Amino acid sequence: MNETTKANLLGLTQPQLESFFESIGEKRFRAGQVMKWIHHFGVDDFDAMSNIGKALREKLKACAEIRGPEVVSQDISGDGTRKWVVRVTSGSCVETVYIPQAGRGTLCVSSQAGCSLDCSFCSTGKQGFNSDLTAAEIIGQVWIANKSFGTVPGKIDRAITNVVMMGMGEPLMNFDNAVAAMQIMMDDLGYGISKRKVTLSTSGVAPMIDELGKIIDVSLALSLHAPNDELRNRLVPINRKYPLAQVLDACRRYISRLGEKRVLTVEYTLLKDVNDQPEHAAQMVELLRDVPCKINLIPFNPFPLSGYERPSNNAIRRFQDLLHKAGHNVTVRTTRGEDIDAACGQLVGQVMDRTRRSERYIAVRRIGDEAAPSSGAADRT
Ligand code: SAH
Ligand code: SF4
Repeated sequence: MNETTKANLLGLTQPQLESFFESIGEKRFRAGQVMKWIHHFGVDDFDAMSNIGKALREKLKACAEIRGPEVVSQDISGDGTRKWVVRVTSGSCVETVYIPQAGRGTLCVSSQAGCSLDCSFCSTGKQGFNSDLTAAEIIGQVWIANKSFGTVPGKIDRAITNVVMMGMGEPLMNFDNAVAAMQIMMDDLGYGISKRKVTLSTSGVAPMIDELGKIIDVSLALSLHAPNDELRNRLVPINRKYPLAQVLDACRRYISRLGEKRVLTVEYTLLKDVNDQPEHAAQMVELLRDVPCKINLIPFNPFPLSGYERPSNNAIRRFQDLLHKAGHNVTVRTTRGEDIDAACGQLVGQVMDRTRRSERYIAVRRIGDEAAPSSGAADRT
């Protein structure tokens, strides 16, 4: 039990680590040395820190530790995508995905075990909610992934060039820990990733978007998924609390504070016959008229019992064309790592649900399926 009372230095930002050293009667500059060992060199053993004297190393061993989440599995897909399942303190497992692309590598990081927001098409939401990840558990995913590529000190072309907070969970519902982890991602003593290349994705927790803007300048992505409140209330339930006008206002404020021609990323998961019709594209053009943005369409990735389908390639192209013709920069996210279930919205981990939502969800879907045995969802069980 003694172990758990040690301070875990992995999740501390530079100022926090400086305060830690001060609190144990040491010089603040030790923070920089230790951060480099942890994040640049992937070290978790104080004895490996050769520029720190033996006495201080012993002192640190007695009161501190460097502990990432436990790696349960690591899979590498045929297309180079990697997926880790890691176990966090609460006992639940969450997933982290690395996606290599020409000239860059993006790490998709989880912020919560499960999610309380329950968007209707998201498998994480269907798992219910268990716990917020600590800052150490969030940055620990970057630490683990970085180590898997071999930490070569001073190496320029690093494997992880971008981080997106688009794994399991809603980062703005775990605000302090998500912010601390992103600060370490951007710190030169951490991972030195540019503010433009760290992206927080939110389903639209409007007041927290404003809070975020007061302390950090990472890129922002909004999970829109519907161009009107009536439909969005059904797909993204948090919309009932913070409707579109309020969320878009907060996004506009956030983006305008960043300046430098930075734009909002609008994510839109395309669901067959639900939000993929020409009228939806037209409403979206109207809605985003004065929002500096680029649009990323995500064809729905199916999961068992979801009840939704992915639109045809023609329908996806038609939707993209309509937005494009209205002057928008629109990309379609290609699905990667399908053979290891690493696609968007398919991250399930193993959440020890506290809400019993997953049980209820499965029960309700099964009753629905029995009542309508020919429904699309039934044959995916
Ligand atoms: N909670 C945050 C970040 C995690 S979800 C958010 O909602 O933005 C990351 C993205 O994947 C979101 O845009 C989400 O809507 C999308 N997504 C969720 N389930 C999906 C699915 N089954 N298929 C495709 N995209 C999905
Ligand atoms: Fe949570 Fe995001 Fe999934 Fe919605 S889409 S349930 S906010 S993880």
